[in-house]
Amino acid sequence: MKLSQSRIYLSPPHMSGNELSFVENAFRSNWIAPLGPNVDGFEKEIAEKVGAGAAAAVSSGTAAIHLALSLLGVNRGDKVFCSTLTFVASANPILYQGAEPVFIDSDLESWNMSPRALKKALHEAALNGKLPKAVIVVNLYGQSAKMDEILTICKEYEVPIIEDAAESLGSKYKGKASGTFGDFGVYSFNGNKIITTSGGGMLVSDDADAIEKSRYLATQARDPAPYYRHSVTGFNYRMSNILAGIGRAQLQVLDERVQLRRNIFDKYFKSLNDLSGIEFMKELSESQSNRWLTTLTVNEEQAGMNVNQLLDALYKENIEARPVWKPLHLQPLFKGATYYPHENGNSVSERLFKTGICLPSGSSLSGTEQQRIIQCIRDAYSNGVDLKLQEYEV
Ligand SMILES: *Cc1c(COP(=O)(O)O)cnc(C)c1O
Repeated sequence: MKLSQSRIYLSPPHMSGNELSFVENAFRSNWIAPLGPNVDGFEKEIAEKVGAGAAAAVSSGTAAIHLALSLLGVNRGDKVFCSTLTFVASANPILYQGAEPVFIDSDLESWNMSPRALKKALHEAALNGKLPKAVIVVNLYGQSAKMDEILTICKEYEVPIIEDAAESLGSKYKGKASGTFGDFGVYSFNGNKIITTSGGGMLVSDDADAIEKSRYLATQARDPAPYYRHSVTGFNYRMSNILAGIGRAQLQVLDERVQLRRNIFDKYFKSLNDLSGIEFMKELSESQSNRWLTTLTVNEEQAGMNVNQLLDALYKENIEARPVWKPLHLQPLFKGATYYPHENGNSVSERLFKTGICLPSGSSLSGTEQQRIIQCIRDAYSNGVDLKLQEYEV
């Protein structure tokens, strides 16, 4: 590794400069304890920004998914459908509730939940008399799933939707904010997301009563009584007033961050799209992605190298790139779980995993840094092609 080259991270935090004034206010008024004016303000501002009826600020995106499952009454023995091509946090809360995940493949256009596979899975579940209690639909790398189709199918079977929009805050589908299509929407403010509170999440819904109930569940489910009275299992999931202050300042620059990430995507696209065998993740028509991470697939035969060789070349240049999420149905944790591929014998998520790569896409990435990444990819590419020619000549 060339240590002279500074490290380029995949998606590092990017502060706006206003965070400290919100945090200072919290200190000055001694609102250090959980909850306080920043939490109330952050909830209100997110709800306004995305056009949701109400929002509850919590300690992580994972916690928000867990609360949504709890509110929907998911319990031991229940089934929950979930996108397979995602980070494990989408499905871990299913296990927390003792429920059983069933994984649904992606479709090639969106990389997200295949409406076709979902339809088949729901049809079979109905025949077996055991519909899932919820469907968790993930919006990967900023791209919205095909929400129209998915909403129609779920409506037909009357199954509620939790939209995991951890990666798609700031994205739009048909003009409406990503994360506001399901019964519940979930955002994450983990350090690598498009905006961050260092760690945190948000549960949104048009059902203000459900959001109020999520606040109750997230503060140890304390019943209204002068003493500590508890009638259901609660959690300690609320966001602190300090972190909500960081979030309020970050939210002010969300639109700029989306624009920066989209610019980064455009530059990658213009600089690399001529290479044969390289295909960028498309943007669904009528949608606008926040382009959280620029992702592409490498066709080994056409490119003369595979995605692992490309990852290796970037690693050697001190550049952090990642494979696409490993599908959850392939994870040892979920061994034996039921899986519905897009079509019989056609598992789209497995193909995307084998050929996909995420490039550094942080909104603070400089032009020089991005040029370094592009050059590294072009060099790796021509080396790969040379190797192939040599083999051919011998
Ligand atoms: C980051 C992420 C989460 C979890 O968010 P945390 O705030 O880290 O708990 C859930 N789902 C997806 C798809 C994510 O990328």
